[in-house]
Amino acid sequence: MILRLDRILIPLPKTDSPDPNAAAAVQELLGGKYGEMSTLMNYTFQSFNMRGRNQIRPFYDLVANIAAEEYGHIELVSYTINMLLTGASKRNPDPASAPLDEIKNARNSYHWIAAGQTALPVDSQGNPWNGTFVTATGNLKMDLLFNFHLECGARANKIRAYESTSNPTARAMIGFLLVRGGLHIVAYAKALEKLSGVPVGKLLPIPDISNKKFPEARKHEENGEHLRLYQYSPQDYAQAGVIWNGPHPEDGKECTFQHLPKDYGAPAPDLEPEPQLTAPLDADTLKDMAKKLGAK
Ligand code: MN
Ligand code: MN
Repeated sequence: MILRLDRILIPLPKTDSPDPNAAAAVQELLGGKYGEMSTLMNYTFQSFNMRGRNQIRPFYDLVANIAAEEYGHIELVSYTINMLLTGASKRNPDPASAPLDEIKNARNSYHWIAAGQTALPVDSQGNPWNGTFVTATGNLKMDLLFNFHLECGARANKIRAYESTSNPTARAMIGFLLVRGGLHIVAYAKALEKLSGVPVGKLLPIPDISNKKFPEARKHEENGEHLRLYQYSPQDYAQAGVIWNGPHPEDGKECTFQHLPKDYGAPAPDLEPEPQLTAPLDADTLKDMAKKLGAK
């Protein structure tokens, strides 16, 4: 079971300049083949399906904790897209004023025609995420190899999305996820090393560019965020530290496994209504509903 908190992993800076085309590019990090929906569902199904788990408990706990963290990544990317789309068309409840005229040339028309200027489970071309992106073979070594590859691919796409936009909201999200995804790459490398003795960490980084090149990532690394794997449960999934320990392959600092600090993250943003989309509802309906609910 999942216990849900109404928070996101880092505070996202607000900007005054919406960017619907940046939102379309960032969709790749959500619903693309190497996006957060794929990492979430890969590790979720692999953990549900792991047979004989008592013989391989640290690997089960590792995959399960990372799966839970990926839920928070989906959330963070979705809120980023929502913020990039907030105010992207004219706020005007009068349809005759053509309030959507300005946004009509943005790349992903689903964002305002099929959604309330918000995120969708699709990639940067609008293709829906699909279950064939999940690899859960039942063979631990194959699944861990796949996860290592998936995280490397996710990192490559994040770097390209970062290079596509200077928007501070998008870059804050990508900077943080480069650090956390980097940790996941190292975690699966360590898991493969424990299984095989092969020093997989020697391959890193893939792609050959350090997180230190990204100012929005650097600050999280200075804060040690690349060293801490979190236990996403009050007491379960407690053996991931059997794998996540020892020196980090890039800076030699000690890797630790711990609970999330109590004040981790930030409240989930409550974004402004977009009345031209009747999102959430038109003014008369809202007034009527408030009356029926007995609210002011
Ligand atoms: Mn992720
Ligand atoms: Mn990841």
